[in-house]
Amino acid sequence: MGDLAPPAVTFWGAAGSVTGSMHLVEAGGRRILLDCGAVRGYRGGHWSHHREFPFAARDIDAVVLSHAHIDHCGNLPDLVGHGFAGPIYCTPATREILALMLGDSARIQDEEAFVQNVIDADAEQAASPPVSRRHHVECTLQQCVPVPYEQATAITGDMQLRLVDAGHILGSAMVALTLDGSGRTKTLTFTGDLGRRESPLLRAPSSVPSADLVISESTYGGRLVESTARAAEHLATIVGRTVERGGKVLIPAFSLGRTQVVLYCLEEARRSGKVPAVPMFVDSPLAAAIAEVYGRYPESLNPEYAGGLRGVESATASNELSAAEGARYVRSSQESEELSRRREPCIVLAPGGMCDGGRILRHLKQNIDDPRCSVVLVSYQAPHSLGRKLLKPGPVIRFHGRFWNRWADFVELPGFSGHSDHNELLDFLTPLAGTSPSIRLVHGEPEAAGALAWALRERGFANVEMAKLGQRVVID
Ligand SMILES: [Zn+2]
Repeated sequence: MGDLAPPAVTFWGAAGSVTGSMHLVEAGGRRILLDCGAVRGYRGGHWSHHREFPFAARDIDAVVLSHAHIDHCGNLPDLVGHGFAGPIYCTPATREILALMLGDSARIQDEEAFVQNVIDADAEQAASPPVSRRHHVECTLQQCVPVPYEQATAITGDMQLRLVDAGHILGSAMVALTLDGSGRTKTLTFTGDLGRRESPLLRAPSSVPSADLVISESTYGGRLVESTARAAEHLATIVGRTVERGGKVLIPAFSLGRTQVVLYCLEEARRSGKVPAVPMFVDSPLAAAIAEVYGRYPESLNPEYAGGLRGVESATASNELSAAEGARYVRSSQESEELSRRREPCIVLAPGGMCDGGRILRHLKQNIDDPRCSVVLVSYQAPHSLGRKLLKPGPVIRFHGRFWNRWADFVELPGFSGHSDHNELLDFLTPLAGTSPSIRLVHGEPEAAGALAWALRERGFANVEMAKLGQRVVID
């Protein structure tokens, strides 16, 4: 039995921004969270954790997680640390990737905390026990309840959940909820991050479920992004001319999502002879582990990709590789160091995508002054990130406390994005116009969400707004 209040949603993150996805749904006296993402800091490279929540964590009955990117899941251990003990519903693949992502993020935080303790030289702080984050990560994973795509599942109270393939990364889902309140049934759809229609790796997103309220992402509102196939052609050209002049191709890429797409396109291009047979390295233990998870879910992948997925091997940078072999995963830091000093032509994918941290930094330091080399930026570059600065022309660039000669070739290729662009978002949402849902746009900068809202009104949606932080919307 639901209470008399109609169902409502409050936006507690990713409202007017692309980070910290978190929305509170209240219905029939129950409270569930859609996502619980970390917030990316000003410079783009750091995630903020351990924050206070705008509600009591122990009062949340359940969480539904759309996918395992940190800006959607990174604050789950904090929620657990603040007393949340309920189930976390997600797809089986998301549960597996979540374990890797939260484990990696806990490791980075431990390292940062250690460095901070040394810097602070504060007796009290240095003596404090290591952050209990690892324990909270373990609890988070134990609280996960895997729900396969398209399986209607009763969750807390009278709520019904269905997860629908969003085609953004492996395991990504749109969330379709049926809610009871004030004696009437209401429906809500949350798109999470919505993938592209033509991904070489993943199946295309399913249709967006119709609902009384649709919460849609709007990352690329107002922007058209070239197709992945075109981006792959451009990348092949860049690789060709770089190898011809004896240089290396460096590709900063996030370990989850972008790395798998770019790697697939490079392997395809090499198989068909569009790029020269030089060794390819993925300098990321996390990407290696993620590739293994991708290999366990062939049914979620494009059949061609699933067939071509090969075993993940580690390799040292000095290995002689034949053209027939696929990419080699570099796990140890020492091997990574050797690879960064390698002078022969090769292709290196390494995190992080915005160059603010991760192994890509050592490759940049070793190669940025080599005019034969190319650096291909395939991820979104936040306004104050090092990646954004690197794209500005100029002979020198300052980072990590000194000036570096910026003599390598820098190119931006946004077409490997895992998000629908403006037209794709419109195509996915327009079929719902006939059912006149309310739409609230999240996960987009204000101009992006504004441009999409305007276009949706043109397509016949009467009630479209950009979500505001802390705003509560009643579904009636
Ligand atoms: Zn995402």
